[in-house]
Amino acid sequence: MQQLLIEEWMHYMNRTYPNLVQMFSIGTSYEGRPLYVLKLGKKAHKREIWMDCGIHAREWIGPAFCQWFVKEAVNTYKTDPVMKKILDVLYIYVMPVFNPDGYRYSWTHDRFWRKTRSKMRFNCYGVDANRNWKISFCEEGASLNPCDSTYCGPYAESEPEVKAVTQFLYKRRKHIKIYMTFHAYAQMVLYPYSYQYGAIPNYKCVESAAQKAVQAINSAYGVRYRHGPASSTLYLSSGSSIDWAYNNGIPYAFAFELRDTGYYGFLLPEGLIRPTCVETMLAVKNITMHLLRKCR
Ligand SMILES: [Zn+2]
Repeated sequence: MQQLLIEEWMHYMNRTYPNLVQMFSIGTSYEGRPLYVLKLGKKAHKREIWMDCGIHAREWIGPAFCQWFVKEAVNTYKTDPVMKKILDVLYIYVMPVFNPDGYRYSWTHDRFWRKTRSKMRFNCYGVDANRNWKISFCEEGASLNPCDSTYCGPYAESEPEVKAVTQFLYKRRKHIKIYMTFHAYAQMVLYPYSYQYGAIPNYKCVESAAQKAVQAINSAYGVRYRHGPASSTLYLSSGSSIDWAYNNGIPYAFAFELRDTGYYGFLLPEGLIRPTCVETMLAVKNITMHLLRKCR
């Protein structure tokens, strides 16, 4: 769905489900677009979850999944005991379009645009919003060249989109227990670290949550996902959102790489949006219930 239509849809969800959905903006993009977040849940809670989609503009299945999640949450709240439990005891923040400037640009100018749209040196545009976080900034797996697609930016949090999210997460860090970010493509469920090899302190718990998430995905249509630390399962990268979240006290941080493994790549056909969302939903619910069972 196009960027403006997603905004309209968010307003619609907010109006239609006022008891379950609140909408607010956490800042403004480089080109001046509001950075909207939906807050799902009932009454006052102690624990919270954050989900973002569309850090990378061309990965269109991401924003589609964030919307799917919100739609499913409000539609099944009354009928699905698992969803009811989740929304009764947790707040879930959903940011469907992390990088609205880039996302819009991928619709209007360049389908394969990845970065933000801030103007950089050498007449190049944009920063990789998943290399711009203040954690091991611009070391392994990030580029110092403003014209590269993995450019880390002139300094950490140079991008207003990254700055807005880190400020929000930092303020809520005592409450937020799970950080989830949705990318494509590779079919993987990844967790820290991205910037180095080696195990996180709560590896056992996080690994078993990831393993169960992958099994949940497989149970829907038999699609196979891999899981593991981002560094050894995908590649080394510095300044990433999951490492920042984990390093700032969020004990569960997951990056999903959704379908497929490269046959269609970023151009995932419309007919595969729904099954991808259905299986991913199972994984997200599974990880959330895992947390509720107090695995640390
Ligand atoms: Zn990505």
